[in-house]
Amino acid sequence: MNEFERIEHWTKSLNQKDESIKVPIGDDCALVESGGLKLLLSNDEQIEGHHFKRHFPPKGVGFKLIASNVSDIYACGGTPLWVNLAIALPPELPEGWMLSFYEGVSSACERFKLSITGGNTAASDTLSLGAFIVGRCDRFIARRGAKPDERLMLTGPLGESRAGLEHLLAERAIQSETDNAVVKSHLYPDLPSKLVAFIAEHATSAIDISDGLAGDLGHLMAQSGVGFLIEEPEALYSPHLLEYCRQDGKRALKYALFGGEDYQIAFTLPESQVKKAQSLGASLIGRATDTQKLQIHGPKEALELPAKGFVHF
Ligand code: ADP
Ligand code: MG
Repeated sequence: MNEFERIEHWTKSLNQKDESIKVPIGDDCALVESGGLKLLLSNDEQIEGHHFKRHFPPKGVGFKLIASNVSDIYACGGTPLWVNLAIALPPELPEGWMLSFYEGVSSACERFKLSITGGNTAASDTLSLGAFIVGRCDRFIARRGAKPDERLMLTGPLGESRAGLEHLLAERAIQSETDNAVVKSHLYPDLPSKLVAFIAEHATSAIDISDGLAGDLGHLMAQSGVGFLIEEPEALYSPHLLEYCRQDGKRALKYALFGGEDYQIAFTLPESQVKKAQSLGASLIGRATDTQKLQIHGPKEALELPAKGFVHF
């Protein structure tokens, strides 16, 4: 069983009949409605050894934790409001580490205009930093809703975060503008704040790219019952990613499709809205099809993929 089959298997016994849950398990956020307010709920964590190593800058770990949570709210077309933190830490962790971590948290809270409302702190063998986020929305944009022939858009280039992670894991010194850019993309992801209102108004489906484009589009495909054809793979790459791949002899497409944690949003739209989306900074990368396959057919490359991205375990 993969991660998603396991979650389904575990949660079968919940047997809930709560009318306030409008979108249950299975999307980027849950949608609950109370007192006329549409609230979005999600959570995400950063775990030492899995998401980061002790030598990574703690400020970046803090920023990324908040950004990864905000990303799920954005993917549903919402506005982030409040975050509670769940901190489990080994007692010997230097005080300075947590102070820097909180500097990163604070910087992300300012950037994304949200507040920390509380949390919990526990002792643990593993350093684990979790966050639970609440947001609100007017119109919930789900993973389901894409229809064949609608256009597939992306809010920003992919793959840099994975390149930055590799750079940090290798403990290489930052020697160039490219090194600096990819590491920054990993630790301080540049979320598409400016496009969220447009997505909320016009998108027919959306997902944030946390596990790699291939796998995350796989969720849109499964829930919308469509396939995707990527006709503009060049639009997936940033100049920094291309330079990183050129230096290291790597293939940019692999980074874009299977690298995770870019926290850009892939969304679908009717053709009539494409120009407006482009004017706000989104790129047209392809279209939805009725094939149930993920196909890439650009000027330089053509392939067909099983929909799979990063598998957590
Ligand atoms: P994302 O990548 O957007 O953070 P995930 O892939 O982590 O989303 O989760 C997919 C869906 O499964 C979400 O709706 C999430 O709320 C739900 N989910 C994940 N883990 C669990 C769990 N242990 N119990 C119940 N629901 C879960
Ligand atoms: Mg998500």
